[in-house]
Amino acid sequence: MSRTVIDEGRDYPRIVVTPPGPKARAIVERQDRWASTSYRKEYPLVVARGERAIVEDVDGNRFLDFMGGIAVAATGHAHPKVVRAIQEAASRFLHICGSDFYYDGFAALCERLARLAPGSSKKRVFLTNSGTEAVEGAIKLARQSTGRAALIAFTGAFHGRTMGGLSLTASKAAQRAGFGPFVPEVHHVPYGYRYRCDYCRREPACTMRCVTAIEDDLFVKKVDPQDVAAIFVEPIQGEGGYIVPPPGYLKALRELCDRHGILLVCDEVQTGIGRTGKMFACEYDGLEPDVLLVSKGLASGMPVGAIIAKESVMRWQPGTHGSTFGGNPVCCAAALATIDLVEHELLPGVTTMGERLFAGLRRLQERYPSIGDVRGRGLMIGVEFVEGRDTREPAPAIPHDLVERAFKKGLLLLGAGRSTLRLAPPLVIDEYDVDTALRIIEECLREMAD
Ligand SMILES: *Cc1c(COP(=O)(O)O)cnc(C)c1O
Repeated sequence: MSRTVIDEGRDYPRIVVTPPGPKARAIVERQDRWASTSYRKEYPLVVARGERAIVEDVDGNRFLDFMGGIAVAATGHAHPKVVRAIQEAASRFLHICGSDFYYDGFAALCERLARLAPGSSKKRVFLTNSGTEAVEGAIKLARQSTGRAALIAFTGAFHGRTMGGLSLTASKAAQRAGFGPFVPEVHHVPYGYRYRCDYCRREPACTMRCVTAIEDDLFVKKVDPQDVAAIFVEPIQGEGGYIVPPPGYLKALRELCDRHGILLVCDEVQTGIGRTGKMFACEYDGLEPDVLLVSKGLASGMPVGAIIAKESVMRWQPGTHGSTFGGNPVCCAAALATIDLVEHELLPGVTTMGERLFAGLRRLQERYPSIGDVRGRGLMIGVEFVEGRDTREPAPAIPHDLVERAFKKGLLLLGAGRSTLRLAPPLVIDEYDVDTALRIIEECLREMAD
């Protein structure tokens, strides 16, 4: 089966009819009538097909994708090697249940992830269908393996939508509204958010007070550290606003955990598999987490996630945890092909394209005072908008307006946190893509300033 090539030259972005066009409107209307009311659409993009960082809608508009289906399309849309791996696996068998039986792809993906994870200790792997299922499993694993109940997570964190994951999540109140009571004994503490840190934002350098406060405040007044099973942390907060913590922050958390026998769980569902220019973001800090969670980019869009844990931690007894679809053979094949591509072809480009994008955004920051902060690693970059540089008051209307305008011009973007624009393009983008995205973003900013 051959694919039709969408773009051989550089004929994108290309808007032939203002989106949503007539075909798109029909689908939007149908889906809005029949689908759950909980879906909050970003904008009326109706996809027909994709290739590299190009998405074509049903009316023939071609968009440059700088959100990657929420940081998922790591190898770009429908990468031929990933598609071939999926077709080959699907032609053999679709399901047998990896929790109960064996197959090569399951074994191979477990070994691959266990060997890839940072640090010298041997790891074991549990395969899931999603990020939130990985979080959910990690909560159970942490509680059972430590015999402790309490969990620490961070303000601004996003760990998913199921009850356990949601209990750790604290990025948008709307995501929690009306769903309580939550899993008990979850304690939220401030994240290393230098730009808005209540402790040290006015100091010349980070004082790491947000970490020492866990020790000096939380553990003294509220929770005995011996009751804490795990700290769940995103090495860069994703949904919360693409927030890069200060250097040394994760190391300080690691030391805190070691002092009290607490497990450090790194939720790399968004940061993992090359997004930041290394396979895992925690490698930047030379960190070995006890438990590492991945999902989003792992299989270029096929639903799979993983709990990668030290063997000393992952010792739960047979029958204690499982998943009917987790580690589906087609998904395993897509994941293995994705990891190959990221490891052997894409990683260097993530860093160079990330630097180019970052530098371009910093230049925009010099010209547009509404850009308060530009931060990120690799191709995970946040641009935080403010009412004024001194007050740093969030300006949520700006990224919202920008995302709308960019969509009409053929650039797909996404917000994060309260007033941040997140850039998470497929890892295959090149200079043309970066420069085009920067040009459109600037065009929007200029129009908005007028
Ligand atoms: C998206 C995300 C999740 C949830 O993943 P789903 O696959 O949507 O369940 C969990 N943690 C982080 C850091 C995420 O970005």
